[in-house]
Amino acid sequence: MNLVFLGLPGAGKGTQAALLAEKYDIPHISTGDMFREAVKEETELGKKAKEYMDAGELVPDQVTIGIVRERLAQEDCRRGFILDGFPRTIAQAEALDQVLEELDRELDLALLIAAPEAELIERLTGRRVCQSCGATYHVKFDPPEVEGVCDECGGSLEQREDDKPETVKKRLEVNRKKTDRMVDFYSSKGILTEIDARGEIAAIHQQIIRLIEDGPDDN
Ligand SMILES: [Zn+2]
Repeated sequence: MNLVFLGLPGAGKGTQAALLAEKYDIPHISTGDMFREAVKEETELGKKAKEYMDAGELVPDQVTIGIVRERLAQEDCRRGFILDGFPRTIAQAEALDQVLEELDRELDLALLIAAPEAELIERLTGRRVCQSCGATYHVKFDPPEVEGVCDECGGSLEQREDDKPETVKKRLEVNRKKTDRMVDFYSSKGILTEIDARGEIAAIHQQIIRLIEDGPDDN
């Protein structure tokens, strides 16, 4: 089961990818984790990526795809994998196809976790973070017992700069363009499926399982 998860910030893509990975005992490969691992293991490509990151530059596609290749060739990916946050560009998507071909594999499904913009904005701008211990809350979906006060340590809860409405809107806009391109790419290959991200995490998880086990037609 070789999957790519697509979705905008706030859609719950990472959460659903993690749940599904646990269910099927396959690795959940987020780009961030993959980079951190390669850097920590000091692989050739990890060292290269670190040079770019230390210089505050974007890691070039060539290095990124090399790291993806190394990761997908590992033993634990043999039964499948979930890529989360990769690919983000057409060039990366094409490179991924090539890597998979070399490994004699192919993608089974690109799953778009979709929600209306207003819902994403509500989810993202409602986040509050404890200034003392880093615990996170949501004003609507996961509120603390006392407004503005951390349940764990009594610290004060603040909205991160990243979660302010204007920043959130900009972030969504940039990401939407990229995601749309990936959606077009995989839909032209006939492997794109969309799932509605509104509702309980557990219910959406079950829906994704059904979709994978029964195929998109029965959903
Ligand atoms: Zn706290």
